[in-house]
Amino acid sequence: MSGTSGTKNVGEAISGPAVARPRPTAPAVQTPVPAAPGTDLGTHEVTNQPPPLAGFDPLACDPALVDAVEREGAGGALPTLALLGEKVASEEFREHARLANENSPVLRTHDRYGRRIDEVEFHPSWHALMGLSVGWGLHAAPWQAAPGTGAHVARAAGFYLVSQLEQGHCCPISMTYASVPALRHDPALAASFEPGLTARMYQPGLARPGSKTGLLVGMSMTEKQGGSDVRAGSTVATPSDDGTYRLTGHKWFTSAPMNDLFLTLAQAPRGLTCFVLPRVLPDGSRNAIRLQRLKDKLGNRSNASAELEYDDAVGWRLGEEGRGVVTIIEMVSMTRLDCVLGSAGTIRAALSEAAHHVAHRSAFGERLADQP
Ligand SMILES: Cc1cc2nc3c(=O)[nH]c(=O)nc-3n(C[C@H](O)[C@H](O)[C@H](O)COP(=O)(O)OP(=O)(O)OC[C@H]3O[C@@H](n4cnc5c(N)ncnc54)[C@H](O)[C@@H]3O)c2cc1C
Repeated sequence: MSGTSGTKNVGEAISGPAVARPRPTAPAVQTPVPAAPGTDLGTHEVTNQPPPLAGFDPLACDPALVDAVEREGAGGALPTLALLGEKVASEEFREHARLANENSPVLRTHDRYGRRIDEVEFHPSWHALMGLSVGWGLHAAPWQAAPGTGAHVARAAGFYLVSQLEQGHCCPISMTYASVPALRHDPALAASFEPGLTARMYQPGLARPGSKTGLLVGMSMTEKQGGSDVRAGSTVATPSDDGTYRLTGHKWFTSAPMNDLFLTLAQAPRGLTCFVLPRVLPDGSRNAIRLQRLKDKLGNRSNASAELEYDDAVGWRLGEEGRGVVTIIEMVSMTRLDCVLGSAGTIRAALSEAAHHVAHRSAFGERLADQP
């Protein structure tokens, strides 16, 4: 076919030669009115069911939270916390929370051409939730604030609020927050990554960390033979001439594997050591971190957790050789503090649901809330 006269270019072949067409006029945009659910079902009428819980004010309903924020020196953050609370209680974000959990992330190890990509696809609602929390600064943003400004208290209150909305996405948010004290063991690494970690910009997708405005961090410790007992780790780190290390081994439970950087434990010549592994190397190539499969978890379903292997993956040492636990424990313990906030938020969400239910449901002629 090549060289035949009159060959059309691809655009022409699809759309034909350019002709003047009348321009369509844009219709006026109206706000759609959602259809009300049907209550007369023919066989019976739906009554005595509560309306969906949305549109309440989680700060106004929670004077203990407001008191705590003021008492701990973060009262100035209450107006922005109220805006976050509005989102948390909105129909829009409650629907995002449902969708992100009903559409679990999917692992793509290879692209359609057989090339290795090791990526995880998420539902758009996951990205909406991440955008909300990063945009507010619930990830590492408080580390940028001057001491004594209440930034960490305000962030704790915000984390407690979003935990009432959706817990899975709180995992990468928490790990990113927690990574900064550990990263500061190496001022050079901290200087290169902290601006990206503290930026209020959610930028999903694998890319060279230096080319991204916003970064997220995970932690990779648990192996098949040891979870609590991380010293049983068998991943080996071999020093390279350029000062980096090459890691070979596996991890059995690494959450949020699409994050940009991972703090990882491996056995270096002088013992268990902490390393920083970027998913993408400075030259733009993918680090040899192979995602094997995703965990089929009981809860935390919106969030991906991966089993992975390092096949000569490149890592930068963080802290001294043999002091891996001492280094990474700074990150681990901060995530455990967030587990307390997250658990408190989850309990609060359950209480809100229960209070709403008993306010609208009747039994034996009285609202449940009015029953003894
Ligand atoms: C949702 C989710 C996300 C996770 N994300 C990550 C992640 O991002 N990165 C990561 O590295 N890991 C992750 N993990 C793994 C997690 O950190 C480990 O499961 C955890 O450390 C426990 O290890 P294990 O499951 O091997 O249990 P084991 O260590 O085998 O413990 C089994 C039981 O024994 C108890 N036990 C252990 N040691 C002692 C002791 N000395 N005395 C008394 N009792 C003891 C434990 O409390 C537990 O009840 C995740 C797990 C879950 C469920």
